Parts: sequence; structure tokens; C-alpha cells
Amino acid sequence: MPVSIDLSGQGAIVFGVASARSIAWSIASFLHAADAKLTVTYQNERLKKPTLDLIRNLDGAAAVECDVTDHASIRHVFETAASESTITTVVHSVAFANREDLDGEFSQTSLDGFRLALDISAYSFIAVSKLASDYMEDGGSILTLTFQAAEKVYPGYNVMGVAKAALENEVLQLAAEFGPKKIRVNAISAGPLNTLAARGISGFSDMRRIHEERSPLGRNITQEEVGGTALFLASTLASGITGEIIYVDAGYHIMGV
Ligand code: NAD
Repeated sequence: MPVSIDLSGQGAIVFGVASARSIAWSIASFLHAADAKLTVTYQNERLKKPTLDLIRNLDGAAAVECDVTDHASIRHVFETAASESTITTVVHSVAFANREDLDGEFSQTSLDGFRLALDISAYSFIAVSKLASDYMEDGGSILTLTFQAAEKVYPGYNVMGVAKAALENEVLQLAAEFGPKKIRVNAISAGPLNTLAARGISGFSDMRRIHEERSPLGRNITQEEVGGTALFLASTLASGITGEIIYVDAGYHIMGV
């Protein structure tokens, strides 16, 4: 019975590398270690050099610019990756909200801020998944990243809580729709990690402190723990799992107090 994970000959796309701390970067590193043919995306010209510097360490990996608000840009990523190998894994690790919508009273959220956060952080997963399903001719694994603020109130997370609630519902609906095509759709709900996106959230350091104090494991998680779970979900070891929100949070979410 094979127990190692071997993705050789398979194509993987990871959206959302911004720095070495990005969850996307950890996931990309794990997929590459399992020999997947890797394509990562970065958002804009500013992030091109840091991303190219990172992938220099990963033999054969490619980096493509992609702004997920632009459908042609997402399509270009798939066309580029598919010209190299059959795509079997797609990871969406992208979110954004204006800083003023990640602080203060939730009821002050502007319509423009709401639209922007939901467009980038939730709608984009539908767009990415639809294209993934078109390219995954013999099944595959689609994954996104969520946070417990989808179901519990985290003061400061504000409009992003709505975006994550939408995203988690999308996971269910897409898993149901794509199941007959042997495509699995899941999310990892990660505990707080110190990344560029997290820095925009007011009260983030309190979130880290409280997770450490109250989680059953008594600590925060690492990017590598998310990367490892993502690799498992991309592999046939997870062939029976779809439509799941998998918590990688040192158990924090099970606690009442
Ligand atoms: P990060 O800042 O490294 O990654 C966020 C990425 O989103 C960046 O690469 C950024 O360029 C990209 N992005 C933003 N707007 C975009 C656009 N219009 N087009 C394309 N890309 C765009 O931070 P991260 O923490 O690694 O975030 C990755 C995912 O993990 C996000 O969905 C985030 O909500 C989720 N998450 C993070 C944590 C945490 O504590 N860091 C916890 C749970 C879930």
C-alpha cells in the first residue's frame, strides 16, 4: 500500500504568493516537494521580484502575474499552466479588504468596501474553480483558505467575516456541483498566522495571544502545518474528502471558553 505522496507528472497552480510568509508559499513548497509541476501567481508588478526570488529555489516552477478581479488574467494562468502539464491541483490563497473596513464598527462598512472585499476574497474562488473544473479532465483537488471569523465574531475582522462565510458556502456548492467530475473542493480554516494580509487586521496580535492561551495544543500554528494539510488534500490519501472545512488551528475552534 503506497503511503508516500507523489504528484509527479501533475500540474498544480497556487494563487496568492506575496512573501515567504504567505500561506500560498508554504503550500507551493509542499506541492513542489511532492514533485508537482508548479505554477504560482503574484498579484502585480510590485510582487514580481519577491516571487521570482522565492521560486528560484524550486526547480521547474513558474510564476505568472494574476489579478483575480480580471477574468482574462485568471484564464491566462490556466492556459500557461496547462501548456506544461495536466492540472490536478488548484489552490486559492487570496483575500483583500480595505484597511478602514478591518477596524471600527462593522455597521460602518461601505458598499464599495463590501463589494471589493467580496469580489476579491469570495467571488474570485468561483471564477478560479470554474476554470479549474474546465481544465481538470480526470478529476482533481481545489482548495481555498478560510478563517473561523466565518462563523464566530472576531472584532476587527468585520467585512472579511462576511467574505469568509460566503467563501465557505461556495466550498459546499462547488463540491456538490463538481463531485460527478471527480473534483474535490475543500477549505482549510487556518489559525492566525503573521502574514502581510494579517497585518491589516486590527487586534491581530491579540488573536495570536488568545489562540496560544486557549487552544488545546497551547500554541499557534505554523505555515508548514497548513502546507502539509494542503498537500494531503491534494493527494489521493484524501480521495474521500470533499466539501469540508478542515481546521488547522491547534484545536482552538472546539473550545467554549
Ligand atoms: P498574504 O498577504 O501572504 O496573501 C494574500 C494574497 O492575496 C497576497 O498574495 C495578495 O497579493 C493576494 N491578493 C490580494 N488581492 C488580490 C487580487 N486582486 N488579485 C490577486 N491576488 C490578490 O496573506 P495570507 O495570510 O497568506 O493569506 C492567504 C489566505 O489565507 C487569505 O485568503 C487569508 O484570508 C487566509 N487566511 C489567513 C490567515 C492568517 O492568519 N494569515 C488565517 C486564515 C486564513
